[in-house]
Amino acid sequence: MGLLEGRKGLVFGVANDRSIAWHIARNLIAHGAVCGFTHLPGDKMERRVRKTLENGGVTDPWLKPCDAASDEDLDRVFAEAKDSFDTIDFLIHSIAFADREYLRTGVFSQTPREVFKQALDISAYTFVAMSNRAAAMMPNGGSIVGMSYHGSEKAIPGYNVMGVAKAALESSTRYLAAELGEKGIRVNTISAGPIRTLSAMAVGGIDEVFEWVERRAPLKRNVEADEVGRTAVYLVSDLASGVTGENIYVDSGYNIVGL
Ligand code: NAD
Repeated sequence: MGLLEGRKGLVFGVANDRSIAWHIARNLIAHGAVCGFTHLPGDKMERRVRKTLENGGVTDPWLKPCDAASDEDLDRVFAEAKDSFDTIDFLIHSIAFADREYLRTGVFSQTPREVFKQALDISAYTFVAMSNRAAAMMPNGGSIVGMSYHGSEKAIPGYNVMGVAKAALESSTRYLAAELGEKGIRVNTISAGPIRTLSAMAVGGIDEVFEWVERRAPLKRNVEADEVGRTAVYLVSDLASGVTGENIYVDSGYNIVGL
């Protein structure tokens, strides 16, 4: 019997077969979980995500459009999930967005107000908004997992406003964990090392970051998205029943190195 047999939940953030969300879902499903998915609104987005899921063996996926910046979309998707699943056991939040121009210029002090607000809204606030809606569907407790990056703690060239958003995400994780713990709901983030996805390619100087990690990280290599997926299995499963409010690094150990 699989570690996650009988568990069901929602996965936000599959854009294509490189997406971390897909590698998380793939691993959850391999351990017996049932996943519902969303895609950004639009036929092209739907086709791309559906193809990823079907090529990955998810036949007839539960797949709904959702722009997480819209409260109406979030309300609709969670209402549809309630109709289909009644209760859920996990929520995976693997989405982020910032205007790529401000991830490339390197001039953080020039970030316009609207760019800052949008990055924080989509990359951090949606974690709170989704957790609130998911908690209402978790009468038996559950596990909520978000995706972070080391740029939340350290000033990493090119990461800029997204680093500030990840700091807000990690702090939100602690406040959510403190509040939802009494309901048996655990909330954690995984801080992944750099992985070649659509979003990563928007970050300025990303190729240098891959080379740097390979040279400096204790494991002397970059991480695979699959390793993040397997850590998510751990966090969703009862193996992590005593773990909440944490930010778990899956980065070949890069974050522990000083020089
Ligand atoms: P990705 O581009 O495959 O995934 C990002 C997802 O965010 C996409 O599915 C996109 O549709 C979704 N998204 C953006 N705006 C949205 C909105 N308004 N509503 C709903 N969805 C929206 O890239 P990824 O690297 O898999 O990113 C997933 C998560 O992992 C992000 O939080 C990212 O910051 C984080 N992360 C990535 C890396 C890396 O190096 N790739 C490292 C650490 C953390």
